[in-house]
Amino acid sequence: MRWALIGASDIAATRIIPAIRQAGDEVYGVMSSNVGRAASYANANGIAHSTTSLEELLTWPVDAVYISTTNELHAQQAIAAAKAGKHILCEKPIAITISDGKEILKAAKENEIVFATNHHIRTSGVHQKIREIVQSGQLGDLYLARINHAVALPERLQGWRLSGADKGAGVILDITVHNIDTLRAALGSDIVEVTALAASNGLAQDGIEDTSNCTFRFANGVIANTSECFLVPFNTTTFEIHGSQGSLVATGVMTQDPSGEVVITNSAGSKTIEITDRENLYVKTIKQFQNAIAGKGEPLASGDDGFASMQGAIAALKSAREKRTVQISEVS
Ligand code: NDP
Repeated sequence: MRWALIGASDIAATRIIPAIRQAGDEVYGVMSSNVGRAASYANANGIAHSTTSLEELLTWPVDAVYISTTNELHAQQAIAAAKAGKHILCEKPIAITISDGKEILKAAKENEIVFATNHHIRTSGVHQKIREIVQSGQLGDLYLARINHAVALPERLQGWRLSGADKGAGVILDITVHNIDTLRAALGSDIVEVTALAASNGLAQDGIEDTSNCTFRFANGVIANTSECFLVPFNTTTFEIHGSQGSLVATGVMTQDPSGEVVITNSAGSKTIEITDRENLYVKTIKQFQNAIAGKGEPLASGDDGFASMQGAIAALKSAREKRTVQISEVS
């Protein structure tokens, strides 16, 4: 399969281009808004074609596009690509408004293309094992979940993420959105309401948050807490799920790599769970995207998943700004 990249981004260069190639596909060309960056990015990444025009890109002989521009651009680019009949792997959040998110799903459906969201964390063998454990019922009745996902934002990424609400900046649209997707995938349930607190601790500017703590109520009754931060260099991330028959604690699992361990504690004691699947998260995403195009199953994270996680993050932002609990139905 041939791909075009919409956006000359860091994530494409560091993760997706290698993953596309490892999955046996070709990166045909790249689009940047800047002619010099388009050419230098193509050259640096061994890509034969470059352009500054989305219209031109959509005439290229490619089957799929990968959208990894800044967040406010995803919707218009995804809708244009869907109308051109291209399958789409889109970065999260898929949009920064509910109406744009709905328009993307509508365009994907009307044009019968596969639309996948790049929520990589749920694709990890570790997270798939966690989901399997939850679905088996061995943790009993589920009450609480918690994600600790505080990181130090690498210097090379300290640009648009830190200022400008118009670009979809801030830790909630960057990291909380992944945590929501991770919880949805593990619990098999959707968010009903959220209460969030956010802070700007000096890295983000213009009133944009670089730290947040969110509490979500899920439809299955679980109350989940998520913590996110751009300023914490020495943390080990964690994901916990607590039920009447057991507690699951996963350590070092909120990452871009298939790393970390899972321990279950129950009446028999504590046991480290064996994880056999340590495949690259992004390669798995591309391979299942290929399968979905071939009519074999769904993407690992669909357009509906991308919409639901974006919706939860928008509700969390609203809650933090208005200092009150926000129902998901208020942002539908
Ligand atoms: P980048 O800042 O690297 O790229 C985003 C845009 O910024 C590019 O499209 C590019 O515009 C512009 N840009 C990049 N480098 C420069 C530069 N040196 N000078 C001026 N402009 C530049 O962003 P990320 O790769 O970090 O994120 C892109 C998207 O991917 C976001 O939606 C983000 O949420 C998502 N993401 C997802 C991850 C995941 O694992 N799922 C991880 C990281 C990010 P142009 O294309 O016009 O050249």
